Amino acid sequence: MYQALYRKWRPQVFEDVIGQKHITEVLKSEISSGKISHAYLFCGPRGTGKTTCAKIIARAVNCEHPVNGDPCGNCPSCKAILEGSATDIVEMDAASNNGVDDIRDIRDAVVYTPAELKYRVFIIDEVHMLSISAFNALLKTLEEPPAHVIFVLATTELQKIPATILSRCQRFDFHRVTPMDIISRMKTVCAGEKIEAEESALDLIARMAQGSFRDALNMLEFCAGSGENITLSKATDLLGASPVELLADISTCIAEKRTADALKIIDNVYLSSRDIAVFWRELIAFLRDVMMTIATRGTYSNDKTVVDTAGKFTVMKVMRILEVFTQAEGDMNKLPANAKLYAEMATVKVCDPTMDTDPTAILSRISDLEEKIASGNFKKAVSAPASKADENSVSKLFVPYEEPVKMTYEGKLALTACKSWPEIVRKVQRQDSMTATFIRGAQGYTGSDGQFYINCDSDFAVSYVSDMRRLTIVILAINQICNTSYNEKNVVVRVVMQHIIQ
Ligand SMILES: [Zn+2]
Repeated sequence: MYQALYRKWRPQVFEDVIGQKHITEVLKSEISSGKISHAYLFCGPRGTGKTTCAKIIARAVNCEHPVNGDPCGNCPSCKAILEGSATDIVEMDAASNNGVDDIRDIRDAVVYTPAELKYRVFIIDEVHMLSISAFNALLKTLEEPPAHVIFVLATTELQKIPATILSRCQRFDFHRVTPMDIISRMKTVCAGEKIEAEESALDLIARMAQGSFRDALNMLEFCAGSGENITLSKATDLLGASPVELLADISTCIAEKRTADALKIIDNVYLSSRDIAVFWRELIAFLRDVMMTIATRGTYSNDKTVVDTAGKFTVMKVMRILEVFTQAEGDMNKLPANAKLYAEMATVKVCDPTMDTDPTAILSRISDLEEKIASGNFKKAVSAPASKADENSVSKLFVPYEEPVKMTYEGKLALTACKSWPEIVRKVQRQDSMTATFIRGAQGYTGSDGQFYINCDSDFAVSYVSDMRRLTIVILAINQICNTSYNEKNVVVRVVMQHIIQ
């Protein structure tokens, strides 16, 4: 029967679980001294060994001849559990069984003594998916568990577990597995499976696995699928890894302030269904190498792509980019669904430094100027050839607003430019600098129909400013400065290119 590499090579004893010694040592000593908890909570990233450890516990506590807390693997109990024929071991995935009825079934079952083993072990995966009523039902059981019952709850999202459940469990935090540990275990698997793999390919897989051993073995299996040797270029192709050239490309776009081209690259990464967050981390790692190369005057790296890219930046500029990008990375971790938006916002911000009023950004602009003065090159900053895409590029949309238009007509609607707009922008800036960035490229108008119009120059700006919280800040600023009483019903945020009005 075909078995996924990850299952086939799943550790059978605590000793073989990689990177979680702080947990396996405690479990071994608890089990060998008979001090077993009735409820364990395993939390940590996916693929770090939570289910594996739960399965080892199930065997270790029931084993007839345990060895230092590890299951022997040969006695009838161990064999029955390994084969999956032991009815006393119940595994449940809360992602698909999250209702109160599923937990009631468990509650009804725990009162009976085990059919053939010493302990009934209930392993509940993704336990954070349980409904509130299911958690309450589970809590009742955890409060007074029968002596022959052990619960092992596993979760990737600790913050979703009610405190009442936490306080009933012995908790273990699983760590991401280091690339070195992943590589060394992959080598064992490769040897056992007669897979030939280049060291650099294993390196890439370990880097992309982000601490998940399961992901690493799944990627290894995927790359080994066609039966040939796993080379670096094959792994790069198959896994959709970001080749260093792509990282260098987007860095160059940023250096040359080609916002549209930089955003296009992010779009392509997204469309190729690669994980934006992974790409982002790779980009940060690349830019860090670039920064180190500039800071050490080229002694840090002799990678040609890194050195070439380093020639396009000043150290201040890269530092500022890294600051903005790591901030975006933090935002992505909090709200993964918005990863692409955060990547785009950060990219727009670093491509057009005039939008960035942070002191570091200003220092970086000064250092750019110093560079120009030193080199005697006073040409206009945007030197890159304007591509077709640039016509609609976001960078173009943020042309600083110049002389306000006094009066404009759109059909019967007369619009009067709001003279206090720069003052409004400054007021918003004090509360929310990102929103200010977007309305700085816009212009406010009072309409003859009693409405206030904010003419933005991109859909992106409109959707950003239209968010109720941000719009409220803007309206409050308008009302305070213009002494008006607009509300969200008579303020219109829309896209109108300035040059169309003029
Ligand atoms: Zn055994």
